[in-house]
Amino acid sequence: MSSILDQDIKFLPNVGPKTKEILSKELGINSYGDLLEYFPYKYVDRSKIFHISELTPDMPYVQIKGKILSYEERDTGKRNSMLVAHFSDGYGVADLIWFRGTQYILKNFKVGTEYIVFGKPSVYGGRFQFTHPDMDDASKLQITEMGMQPFYGMTEIMKKRGYSSRSIEKITKSLVRILPPLPETLPDFLINRLHLVSRDAALRMIHYPHSHQEMQKAQVRLKFEELFYVQLNILRYASDQRRKYRGYVFNRIGDIFNGFYAHNLPFELTGAQKRVMHEIRADMCSGKQMNRLLQGDVGSGKTLVALMTMLIALDNGYQACLMAPTEILAEQHLQTIREFLKGMDIRVELLTGIVKGKKRKEILDGLATGAVQILIGTHAVLEDPVSFCRLGIAVIDEQHRFGVEQRARLWAKSANPPHVLVMTATPIPRTLAMTIYGDLDVSVIDQLPPGRKPVRTLHKFDNQLTSLYQSIRRQIELGRQVYVVFPLIKESEKMDLKNLEEGYETLKQAFPEFSLSKIHGKMKSAEKEEEMERFVKGETQILVATTVIEVGVNVPNASVMVILDAQRFGLSQLHQLRGRVGRGSDQSYCILVTNYKLSEETRKRIDIMCDTNDGFQIAEADLKLRGPGDLEGTQQSGMAFDLKIANIAKDGQLVQLARTEAQAIIDNDPLCEKPQNSILWNRLRELKKTNINWAAIS
Ligand code: ADP
Ligand code: MG
Repeated sequence: MSSILDQDIKFLPNVGPKTKEILSKELGINSYGDLLEYFPYKYVDRSKIFHISELTPDMPYVQIKGKILSYEERDTGKRNSMLVAHFSDGYGVADLIWFRGTQYILKNFKVGTEYIVFGKPSVYGGRFQFTHPDMDDASKLQITEMGMQPFYGMTEIMKKRGYSSRSIEKITKSLVRILPPLPETLPDFLINRLHLVSRDAALRMIHYPHSHQEMQKAQVRLKFEELFYVQLNILRYASDQRRKYRGYVFNRIGDIFNGFYAHNLPFELTGAQKRVMHEIRADMCSGKQMNRLLQGDVGSGKTLVALMTMLIALDNGYQACLMAPTEILAEQHLQTIREFLKGMDIRVELLTGIVKGKKRKEILDGLATGAVQILIGTHAVLEDPVSFCRLGIAVIDEQHRFGVEQRARLWAKSANPPHVLVMTATPIPRTLAMTIYGDLDVSVIDQLPPGRKPVRTLHKFDNQLTSLYQSIRRQIELGRQVYVVFPLIKESEKMDLKNLEEGYETLKQAFPEFSLSKIHGKMKSAEKEEEMERFVKGETQILVATTVIEVGVNVPNASVMVILDAQRFGLSQLHQLRGRVGRGSDQSYCILVTNYKLSEETRKRIDIMCDTNDGFQIAEADLKLRGPGDLEGTQQSGMAFDLKIANIAKDGQLVQLARTEAQAIIDNDPLCEKPQNSILWNRLRELKKTNINWAAIS
């Protein structure tokens, strides 16, 4: 069904071929609908005009109305000039200042014409000034019309081509003017009970609110709708899954589990591990398919929980698999698990991209016959030719590198979908978990094994390297090992690699008496493994690496984690990296090295890291500082729903409300057949057609 919202934006006034192209390329706006849903990211109240005599330097953006008395061009040296306009509103005089585009200003803004000037006032030499203010011809801007001015996001390229938030504002306004009333997308009973404004009103007001109140009403309606459909989609999917599939019932605790527990378990389980095992057991006996997310800080002992869970499947005659995000990690899991199972007659195999030829065929055959009981692997396990005889449980380590899509592909690996346990060390705040992992139950290991000393975190500036090297040397002389991590950011991979190579050489020279390993993402797997192996065995004392070591690597003897250019890492990444040390009984250190110029946000990140080792606190702080779009995991996994207006960090209450309402509807109409809900299911179908990320979920 085509609607006016599918119209090409080229039919709008003010949208020529150039504008059409740039909107499409830079912002993905092609249709009326796209434009209508390109929401402002902020508003500024332009309903009030101040007198210059009322201004104070601590005011945010304000507007004044008056005339330019005269222009003055000042030479600021260094071949730069500055344009100053002396501006008066009859109550006082202020200076308007431009450093760029001065010719344009001189040509367009005339002495004696009345303008509305909008900007942030500051004081210089006893006078108020506005640098690069917004200027509007007062006669063309009607004050009564001016409520909240919307601000639209812009790319650098757009700015360079002379587009501004104002350009989008104009086009959007012209669209809103010609739009017929838009159909409703929520049922009346919800709109009435929650006192929401109509969709038609909301979409108009969001671009053009006359007051703060209107802006809020529009936001609440659109945010709720967005979150509500995300929840409805997840919950309906979960409910369908549960209805369609029975879960395997694993109620036998047999020789394998008991044998392991009695003879091989090298330590007492922590209270948290025990509790989680109870939760998992209850799931596996329930007759429903388990879909559980296991959160536990780095080093909390998730691997052991995974192993015991897999042993229960074995006891019930099924196979198990454990998937890790990288080959290094899969290899480590293999070693750990073989070590744990020493002396027991259980066939554990590794399948990654590098296992080839005869060995691979052997493993594949073993999986098909059931001879291979536990398979450890990477994404390769999901490749088509891999088929199990009786896969009973799949454990996915570090979920944030695994998309929902891959999880879904597991279903296809067995007649009945296996139980699924997803483990993550990136603690996810509740509202986010609800949105991303809405179909999963959650268990938390909130306790570390006894005897761990919290890692001490220090901040150093990069001109303090000499003393840093001394500390490193002292630790190595005590028999410890050290990680040195360099940032790697995709956009400038080449430069980062150069950084790492140079850093490696510098460190080699600084520590001629020690051996170094080096690992980065561009190396071949075999090479990486070899280097890692040397470090694990203690043949090298320093491991120079990019973030490839971020997740899961376990070398208990390593006690120092040095993170260079720490300002370039996000909080959760820093926390993950820090989790590589503090795994033995020695005091461990994490040293964050930065330059002197730190933004306020970076400061906060570093402070939080130095203050706490608690992953949940860090995740909350991260969500607040960066917003969920950037949160480690949501992007990599391709799970980030493209939320257009709601903000999971800030709109926690609405997330909760949306969840409750969606759940009530599913409970009340599990087969989606009640007429009063048909508007919902139709809309959901429509949304899924247009949104790839949603499609990945079902
Ligand atoms: P993570 O949760 O980060 O995956 P691991 O499973 O790698 O943590 O466990 C970290 C270390 O703690 C491992 O060396 C593991 O053997 C050890 N460990 C796990 N559980 C316990 C326990 N209950 N008591 C003592 N050590 C434990
Ligand atoms: Mg782990």
